[in-house]
Amino acid sequence: MSLYLDHNATAPLEPRVLDAMQPWLLGVHGNPASVHRPGRAAHEALEAARADVAALVGAQPAQVVFTGGGTEADNLALKGVCAGIPNGKLLVGSIEHSAVLGPADALAKLGWQVEHIPVDGEGRYDLAALKTMLAVGGVKLVSVMRANNETGVLQDVAAIAALVHGAGALLHCDAVQAAGKIPVDFKALGADLMTLSAHKMNGPRGVGALIMDRRVDLTPLVHGGGQEQGLRGGTENLAGIVGFGRAAALAKSELATRAEHPRVLRDALEAEVRKLPGARIFSSGAERLPNTLQFGIEGLDGEWLVMELDKRGIAVSSGSACHSGSGEPSHVLTAMGHEPAIAKGALRVSFGLGNTPADAQTVAKALNEIVSSRPKNVAAVGW
Ligand code: PLP
Repeated sequence: MSLYLDHNATAPLEPRVLDAMQPWLLGVHGNPASVHRPGRAAHEALEAARADVAALVGAQPAQVVFTGGGTEADNLALKGVCAGIPNGKLLVGSIEHSAVLGPADALAKLGWQVEHIPVDGEGRYDLAALKTMLAVGGVKLVSVMRANNETGVLQDVAAIAALVHGAGALLHCDAVQAAGKIPVDFKALGADLMTLSAHKMNGPRGVGALIMDRRVDLTPLVHGGGQEQGLRGGTENLAGIVGFGRAAALAKSELATRAEHPRVLRDALEAEVRKLPGARIFSSGAERLPNTLQFGIEGLDGEWLVMELDKRGIAVSSGSACHSGSGEPSHVLTAMGHEPAIAKGALRVSFGLGNTPADAQTVAKALNEIVSSRPKNVAAVGW
């Protein structure tokens, strides 16, 4: 049995979520678009899930467009807005997930002028720089995340929304890592579009949603049978969506514990890591997700540390799950001004619902052993 401390990569499916999904996998066979009784039951389940997902973020059910995950919702937001505008400028945060940076790159190939918003040394967007970028003019869309997947740093999305709207542009917010871990309110954040993903809140993988202000003119990526108010064609992944609805409802009702429980474990581990020789905690001066700790240990490579912990049955990550194993330094840490050698040393521990104080102690003990017994010439990174 491995000790799982990588909840920002994906969180285990909750048994209560699986219970809600099961009838829609095995028992009821209706297509939500069918008019017969099983079809109507499927439609009702779909709309109940939509209401639960909307309620988690204080939105209206009609503002929820279900997608096949967070990546698709990010793509729908960026490409869907830009498709309706002949040309313009798109600003994306420099520390965004590849689910945002990827579509921005694709839009650049189509002629969009894409610029990246810088961050300070703690990983917070530089609002003065954003103001200057907006003042130049021509910006149609801005995309920033609420919480970073690697450092956990929270962005002041409401302040960014005020700047962006003042410049007459639209704002998309990737709230994939924040929703279910801390309160997220669509209206209070002030974004026009917002991305959510079920598996980061103990729901199933491959299900997400774009929350949108209905005044936004959005072009679908997937044309088809008119599902999701014409914005995402294809028969809905009903069991997945029902699971998302249940995960959202549970997250809403248990939000206080979900924020506090991992914070205690994270803080306990952080205190232990600080005692290790050459340890450096990233973004500790910024407001962060309560479950996330990213750090490095001088002279040690992050990927090597991941493998050493893995040998001891402990699952953590060297950065974003999508990039681990690539050997590339974290783009988040390099954007924060860290040398590539330091950025390559990063290790991310992300706690979740099932973790206990003993888990924090176990990983602290393992790190201690690894650091004190490290071979002199193994995978050293200079910093
Ligand atoms: N945005 C952020 C900030 C993420 O951390 C992730 C996943 O790691 C995604 C988007 C992509 O979501 P999904 O895995 O549901 O496609």
